[in-house]
Amino acid sequence: MPREDRPIYTCKECDRDFSRYETPGKCPVCGEWEKLECDSCGHKGGAKPFYDAGCKCPKCGHKVRISGADFNLWILVAIVAIVGAIGGGIYLFVLR
Ligand SMILES: [Zn+2]
Ligand SMILES: [Zn+2]
Repeated sequence: MPREDRPIYTCKECDRDFSRYETPGKCPVCGEWEKLECDSCGHKGGAKPFYDAGCKCPKCGHKVRISGADFNLWILVAIVAIVGAIGGGIYLFVLR
């Protein structure tokens, strides 16, 4: 059985497994931020400044991948789709 819907992450700091991030890049068990390195400028550090910058490098703005951020992106996409559908419905309703 594929288990793609329940990804298991392992924290590099406390070495414990968990199925999802409450905050992307931050271990929900020990609260440590994942260590990231920017592909573009080589800036290294905890995930927090990258996350605060919108999943981008705080120095050069290059996009970085933060563990657990994809899941939230999906929720965002779903919300945008739902709001768009409701908005479209209201728009059509008002037009008539
Ligand atoms: Zn941890
Ligand atoms: Zn950078």
